[in-house]
Amino acid sequence: MVAKDSVVLIHYTLTNTGGDVLDSSAEGEPMGYLHGHSNIISGLETQLEGKSAGDKLVANVKAADGYGERDDALVQDVPRSAFPAEPVPEAGMQFQAQGPDGAQLVTVTGVTDENVTVDGNHPLAGQDLSFDVEIVEVRAASEEELAHGHVHGAGGHDHG
Ligand code: ZN
Repeated sequence: MVAKDSVVLIHYTLTNTGGDVLDSSAEGEPMGYLHGHSNIISGLETQLEGKSAGDKLVANVKAADGYGERDDALVQDVPRSAFPAEPVPEAGMQFQAQGPDGAQLVTVTGVTDENVTVDGNHPLAGQDLSFDVEIVEVRAASEEELAHGHVHGAGGHDHG
């Protein structure tokens, strides 16, 4: 049963309220996460609590329990001179920037001769989400996984 310190492997399809598929594991390996360690968004994690392998559910997650509400303060105009010459910034590009909380994914939303407008909101911020989930496997985490705070092996990551 899914509880704190369980390793959980799930197949999922993520859709928005308009029914657009945003992400899905269906074509690949199930995704693994360590339950109770904020590996995944809280609104999904709480709805998986107590479930078992083989269970299927649809978890509806409000933006606030997902990737957060949009914050207009995270949209900023940055002088073009702050960017390298290559690649030429254009709307839709995403890159990692150093913010007060560490590396953060930002999206270019506009470019003028002087400025590049960047948006530090998560691309899914402000969106209510729906996860169609099938629980594939539930097992106890190893001591090493607990120490690292994430899943190793199938569905998780490989330290090589
Ligand atoms: Zn590790």
